[in-house]
Amino acid sequence: MADQSSKAASDHVFGRSHWKASKFTLLTSADADDGSLLLYNSAVGAIARVTRADSAVVAEAYKKGFSGTPLGPLAELTLNGFFVDSELDEIAWASSIRDSETLREDVLELCLLPTEKCNFRCTYCYETFLRGKMQRSVIEGIINFVQGRSATLTSLRVGWFGGEPLTAPEVISEVATRLQDICKASGTRYSSSLVTNGYLLNSKMADLLFRAEVRDFQITLDGSAEDHNRHRLLAKKKSQTSNTFDRIFANLLSLRDRPDPFRVIIRLNFDPESAKRIGPFLDNISREFANDERFFVDFHPVGRWGGPNDSSLPVCGMREGQVLQTQFFGSAGESGLNVRALRQRLEPNGSMCYAANPRSFVIGSDGTIYKCTVAFEDPRNQVGKITEDGQMLIDQAKFLLWTNDGSAGHKGCQACFFKPSCHGNACPLERIRSQSPPCPSTKVTIDQAIRVVAADAIRKAGG
Ligand code: SF4
Ligand code: SF4
Repeated sequence: MADQSSKAASDHVFGRSHWKASKFTLLTSADADDGSLLLYNSAVGAIARVTRADSAVVAEAYKKGFSGTPLGPLAELTLNGFFVDSELDEIAWASSIRDSETLREDVLELCLLPTEKCNFRCTYCYETFLRGKMQRSVIEGIINFVQGRSATLTSLRVGWFGGEPLTAPEVISEVATRLQDICKASGTRYSSSLVTNGYLLNSKMADLLFRAEVRDFQITLDGSAEDHNRHRLLAKKKSQTSNTFDRIFANLLSLRDRPDPFRVIIRLNFDPESAKRIGPFLDNISREFANDERFFVDFHPVGRWGGPNDSSLPVCGMREGQVLQTQFFGSAGESGLNVRALRQRLEPNGSMCYAANPRSFVIGSDGTIYKCTVAFEDPRNQVGKITEDGQMLIDQAKFLLWTNDGSAGHKGCQACFFKPSCHGNACPLERIRSQSPPCPSTKVTIDQAIRVVAADAIRKAGG
């Protein structure tokens, strides 16, 4: 903790006399057995480490607040938002954080389904594969819609999803080229991401995607080759003989060996069985990707997501899955892997699902507009239709189900230290179905999550 400079700054900036710990600040003990503390604040997305020497003063102020000019460790913590003016309306603060993301008329996020067919039949998949390649009228509708909005946009983010989007590369290529042309003409920033099983992501496909300005990838592995191949079956060989792991892993290595700028999230799905082997598997991933900052890892428990095999799927209990998820982040960080995915969930708005953002639309291959990329067959998720001339016909009542402040009217959310990150909208689908906002795993395992991220920051700083 810097002392003198912080004191000077606080004298200059602060004219208040009573301070309280922000309701969004959480205090926990650090991992190290040295009496130090960690503070996390979800409204500023910051973590601070308090040394043993300062811990008594900070813990006391955290409990009771303090008066006068913030001094010593309290100066820096106050400057960084961990302590706030005792009269600050923090609920209004949280709302303004949410508004800063959701009220931005100049930003548009489109998640496009170039095809709803897939070359895989994963055991837990919830998709129906009823609709094929994106219809010509839908492509024209998307182009016309963006053209109509382009004068007011500063940023267009396009995500490719499916089905498996790489089974329709010609749609990606055409739509991306035309959208890039529109953005160039209007001075709009264009960026693009892709969620893929990775099976078709060879070097030629990577060339096509880089031309389409796709720079963010999410590629899922289900653990070791044995675990992965048990779950991730090819559609054409619905048998135990599919070895999809080797090909996807080879594609990941080939991507790594390119000099291009990009980011890959390696998403590791796990169930109670494969979870036992995630540790050793992380060593393999670490050997290949730990020194490359373009790759980072994420973890998700397999769920019963509405597919035909749901009743026979072994899945972790909710709490068990949440604890394992954060534990795996810890192991990944210790193996030198990039755990930025967890860091991002601690940031303001960082645990809010895109389905809650009114600037975000999912457009199916037949022109149906959705909010969520899981419940395609749920009528509440079919919120509208795009027309060939570029109009979005939206059922506002359905749309608002997703974009409402999920925390409104929920006492637990109003009192929650994690509200500025989640806003009761970590999963609007579950909120709508159960009429109660579910807390995300990051919140449920917050002490551990803070320690993992803090330890990662110390490692990166060479500490
Ligand atoms: S609403 Fe829930 S299920 Fe749907 S995309 Fe968001 S987090 Fe996933
Ligand atoms: S859903 Fe849970 S984590 Fe999110 S704001 Fe409400 S109480 Fe907090």
